[in-house]
Amino acid sequence: MAEKHISAEEMQRQVAFSEKLKELNAAGREKKALVVTYGCQQNENDSERIRGILAASGYGFCEKPEEADIIIYNTCAVRENAELRVFGNLGALKLIKRKKPELVIGICGCMMQQKHIADQIKKKYKHVDILFGTHTLYTLPELIWQVVTQGQRSVHIIDSDGAIAEEIPIVRAEGVTAYISIMFGCNNFCSYCIVPYVRGRERSRDVEDILNEVRDVASKGYKEIMLLGQNVNSYGKDLQSGIDFSDLLNLVSEVDGIERIRFMTSHPKDFSDKLIDVIAENKKVCRQMHLPVQAGSNAVLEKMNRRYTRESYLEKIKKLRARVPDVTLTTDIIVGFPTETQSDFEETLSLIKEVRYDSIYSFIYSKRVGTPAAEMDFVMDEAQIHANFDRLLEAQNQISREINESYVGKEYDVIIEGKSKTDENILTGRTEGGKLVHITGDASLIGQTVRVYIASAMTWYLKGELKK
Ligand code: SF4
Repeated sequence: MAEKHISAEEMQRQVAFSEKLKELNAAGREKKALVVTYGCQQNENDSERIRGILAASGYGFCEKPEEADIIIYNTCAVRENAELRVFGNLGALKLIKRKKPELVIGICGCMMQQKHIADQIKKKYKHVDILFGTHTLYTLPELIWQVVTQGQRSVHIIDSDGAIAEEIPIVRAEGVTAYISIMFGCNNFCSYCIVPYVRGRERSRDVEDILNEVRDVASKGYKEIMLLGQNVNSYGKDLQSGIDFSDLLNLVSEVDGIERIRFMTSHPKDFSDKLIDVIAENKKVCRQMHLPVQAGSNAVLEKMNRRYTRESYLEKIKKLRARVPDVTLTTDIIVGFPTETQSDFEETLSLIKEVRYDSIYSFIYSKRVGTPAAEMDFVMDEAQIHANFDRLLEAQNQISREINESYVGKEYDVIIEGKSKTDENILTGRTEGGKLVHITGDASLIGQTVRVYIASAMTWYLKGELKK
């Protein structure tokens, strides 16, 4: 059987490459790195590890490609749009590399796990020096070393499910929330989704490794934890410990200093009564649930291979709301799945009106080569799909606004996360349920939990006033 973890010897070998790079980089001016991330929070978390490796290898960081000595694109394969943007941006780097030949350009992540894409980059993007996949991130020190000392392209992409690499250094995004991956990969094979092909089968991290990471971020002042996995409800199924996701939430909540625990993503078929109990009873586990439904029609759900029905999904929502009446609910919806008919779409529309989500993340179906759905014929044309997408958004916007209105006149605890990107006099924070709140206040409040009176509601956020 394959090893579950990358060996300590191998990790040490990579540390040695980092140290040699650091020595090399110490000569002359400070070397700068730029890491650009596409896609989900799992990728953001991987990029934090990439930054950790780069920092340990003697690189500082910059924002502009022109200032960088090394640029890494961490890519996403979930939708075609993101892929096209990567190709466009990668093409633009050619000019910069022409002016600065010593610039090292790397590309990694889910796109690299698709053979036809990796082959295309190797062939047509000769200015790319490093290619690595989702299972070989830990080898980045060695890959950079090969490029800077031997001037040759380094490629390390493997097709296996990947062993877990613990102890990769990390530079986390500043703020109140620390992202912690609890598992990797997915076993579900939803028919539209590329993730199981590019991230491999489910592998859960050991409980102690997760708890050590939680203790570490708590000691560094993070108040909120976001536990990440493609299907967190499957956590532990591959471990001998007998600890499942609900147990893990309770264990994480025992770590001092952590005030709020969030998680994503949950698959509805694995969403259990035990988890509902934990959300209802554990004060640190946020009363917020992201439960992707994807479609409201049983015919489409079956073709998507989601393995639940509209009725069983609604039943779970009913149970959750009975135990946690104030729970904040969000979901993902795909519009224009190949077999979706107009009446299937109407069922999705009726489902969002029935559930009344706080917000939804809706996407137009994106064909992914190699998935079963890519072989299915489309029922609707593009214009119809786009019109349906707009109708869905319009209906949801109205629901979101109405739900937000119900917050007005009430008070909530809000953790202040930072300054607004558009107005630096405004601070932004979140309620326990994840509602975004804007308040006027001093930057010294960042990181603090404050009591806020909600004065008015917008579609996407609430406006509040600080309670004295
Ligand atoms: S559960 Fe389905 S949609 Fe989610 S990552 Fe796995 S295959 Fe993709």
